[in-house]
Amino acid sequence: MNTDHRIVVLGAGYTGLFSAIRLAHRTRRTGVKITLVNPSSRFVERLRMHQIAAGQELAEHRIPDLLAGTGVTFVQGTATAIDPEARRITVDGAETLGYDTLVYALGSSTDTGKVSGADTQAFTLNNPQIAGRFAARLTEVAASGGTVTVCGGGLTGVEAATEIAESQPGLNVTLISLDEPGGMMGAKARAHLYRALDRLGVTVETGARVTKVLPDAVELADGRLVRSDLCLWTTGVKVSPLAADAGIATDDRGLILVDATLRSVSHPEIHAIGDAAAIRLAWGRIHGTCQSGLPTAQYTADTIARLVRGKAVKPFRFGYFHQPVSLGRRDAVIQFTRADDTPRRMHLTGRSAVAYKEMVSASPLTTYRLSKRMNVTTIVSKGGRATRKPAA
Ligand SMILES: Cc1cc2nc3c(=O)[nH]c(=O)nc-3n(C[C@H](O)[C@H](O)[C@H](O)COP(=O)(O)OP(=O)(O)OC[C@H]3O[C@@H](n4cnc5c(N)ncnc54)[C@H](O)[C@@H]3O)c2cc1C
Repeated sequence: MNTDHRIVVLGAGYTGLFSAIRLAHRTRRTGVKITLVNPSSRFVERLRMHQIAAGQELAEHRIPDLLAGTGVTFVQGTATAIDPEARRITVDGAETLGYDTLVYALGSSTDTGKVSGADTQAFTLNNPQIAGRFAARLTEVAASGGTVTVCGGGLTGVEAATEIAESQPGLNVTLISLDEPGGMMGAKARAHLYRALDRLGVTVETGARVTKVLPDAVELADGRLVRSDLCLWTTGVKVSPLAADAGIATDDRGLILVDATLRSVSHPEIHAIGDAAAIRLAWGRIHGTCQSGLPTAQYTADTIARLVRGKAVKPFRFGYFHQPVSLGRRDAVIQFTRADDTPRRMHLTGRSAVAYKEMVSASPLTTYRLSKRMNVTTIVSKGGRATRKPAA
């Protein structure tokens, strides 16, 4: 056992924080040094970002407090470069950190660069500051009976539109989506989702491609203008260019290409987890969720702990289990799924779904606290039989 082994974890979102805490527990009393790097000392609960956008105040969780007692060193800063040959990270363009093992957990954010005006006229749920500024504008727009557009009818867009409509009943909310909202759910769960949108007065524009965001409207591909005093952009994903810039093998989206043990195919001392990793399993490709991210963090912490001890490791296995969607604070729908995220027959609605969704949103913080003392299992489903051919 090499007791001088240095592990740097980049990013203290859902996966980076979990992997650092679990690694500390799995390598305790070994002398392994773990450093966690993140721009902010506040832990961002991305799962609740739509609640901030709707004007709710969330509890603040500080990363140093969550790390207390683990022995992990926290560095507040932004990683600005990786030198994989020298095994060195530059933080804020100045400080350097050497590593023997790197955990790359830089996540993803909403891409506003593809549609004209989205970067200057629209808000996103990318961080609590932007979501907070959106909430402040929301109050002004609601006071004048204005219209808010939510662009993107994925689950994040649905959660945001319903949360906003419920919190500001005087407001006109329009959800604009190319694909059918809830299209990945079974018919009954989707029907419940639509009933909730209807009950909350959300106008849904389906099959609509946004071509431009203007100060007072959103332009659609068919030439129509949808009034928009305030626009929330929730569609499209981008990742940090850091890995690609460093010459680490990535896919065409910039996600790190990994092998069956979630190690970079070009630099095996680099482990990629969460939204920043391109992970392919027997049934297809993992898409970025907390549900899949936490198991990648758990697996990677355990894998590194084994590798440091010179032990063999097994390949990563995972299967989806559910699609939990809040529909405001008083309603929700949970679609249970097969490993490949296609819907099963079972779903939950109403109060039990609200309680279930809240349990899901709160579970990462509970997991972190417990993981300081014990090995907490986050993997609900390991995948089973392949239900779909791997994506091309
Ligand atoms: C509104 C919303 C609702 C969602 N709801 C669900 C849900 O119900 N269920 C679900 O499973 N998933 C949900 N997701 C998706 C889920 O939040 C992501 O899949 C998850 O956050 C990915 O975790 P991560 O650790 O990979 O990335 P993140 O949680 O995004 O963390 C990345 C971290 O890296 C840091 N970072 C970035 N660049 C640098 C740098 N250069 N140097 C240092 N640090 C850096 C960031 O500041 C951040 O702290 C939702 C997402 C949103 C936006």
